[in-house]
Amino acid sequence: MRCHLIDYLPQIGGQLSEIYPKKPIYDIPGYPTVLAQDLINNLKQQIDPFHPAFTLGERVESLEKRDERDFVLTTNMGTQLQAKVVVIAGGLGCFEPRKPAVKGLEDFENGKGVNYMILDPEAYRNKRMVLAGGGDSALDWTIYLAEIAEEVTLIHRSETFRGAPDSVNKVFQLAESGKIKLVLNSNLSSVQGNGHLHGVSYENSKTKEVHTVETDYLVPLFGLSPKLGPIEQWGLNIDKNAIAVNTDDYSTNIPGIYAIGDINTYTNKLKLILCGFHEAALMSHSAYKYINPGIKYTMKYTTVNGINEF
Ligand SMILES: Cc1cc2nc3c(=O)[nH]c(=O)nc-3n(C[C@H](O)[C@H](O)[C@H](O)COP(=O)(O)OP(=O)(O)OC[C@H]3O[C@@H](n4cnc5c(N)ncnc54)[C@H](O)[C@@H]3O)c2cc1C
Repeated sequence: MRCHLIDYLPQIGGQLSEIYPKKPIYDIPGYPTVLAQDLINNLKQQIDPFHPAFTLGERVESLEKRDERDFVLTTNMGTQLQAKVVVIAGGLGCFEPRKPAVKGLEDFENGKGVNYMILDPEAYRNKRMVLAGGGDSALDWTIYLAEIAEEVTLIHRSETFRGAPDSVNKVFQLAESGKIKLVLNSNLSSVQGNGHLHGVSYENSKTKEVHTVETDYLVPLFGLSPKLGPIEQWGLNIDKNAIAVNTDDYSTNIPGIYAIGDINTYTNKLKLILCGFHEAALMSHSAYKYINPGIKYTMKYTTVNGINEF
């Protein structure tokens, strides 16, 4: 089968490349540990012999079923693709970072000091940084960047963190040893700069005192708001922001449309990469049968068949 991948992001790799490319993953079979971006690079190398095609930086807006085995997808840029089967692997949907309500923040977006994701921690080497948030992402990056950045300040609105207890302990230890500055019970109140960010102010929610810290970067890590976006309008059965599927083959209520990975839901669903791989395998076999009615397909191991390059 020939496969064409469309993604709104400018690169392949979904959450792994966009949110945590440099984080080690420990639960991929066969890899005791692997950096998220390395896993994506390896997967890309593995699919290369099949010459998949890519449309990147475009969002699928509409999905029309014209007939059996005849779908048309249209992107926000007007690109149209025709397909016999559609597999939605839309993850959290087209995700947008949750932004704090701070006036003028947008003036420093797009390379001027305010980032909502850390793509390459090396970009912050020897820089002054303010991170904000209380979840795993804020904690993990604070720990990681403490070794790289010149100065790290973590601002959190409360005294308790939502992240893993181990990470919380590490962050408190780093603060005690003076490696980072930890500001609790405080909210971001304003940003200052001239073309590029150079200061961030925060207000203590108890004392109402306002302090300012000089910084090169502000990274608010308040999570992503999962939005299915256009996918909601395609006539699929949606259950709690996800697509309901039949676990026999991860098909949806519309014959010829499948949903795999984080975007689907079923009893005991686990949002894990491993589960996405399994779902993709069952989906592929079912998709082959749907595309080729009447043709008998016998599964052969790759150790027997090798790779049939296109
Ligand atoms: C910080 C963090 C750590 C994690 N650690 C682990 C771990 O250790 N082990 C593990 O197994 N899992 C981990 N996960 C979960 C794992 O990343 C997800 O299960 C996995 O990324 C799901 O893959 P996916 O392909 O279903 O979706 P995603 O990776 O979310 O990719 C979906 C893609 O679809 C695109 N998209 C959505 N809608 C459209 C549209 N309309 N048009 C075009 N493109 C669209 C998005 O841009 C996105 O690139 C972690 C997740 C996070 C956030």
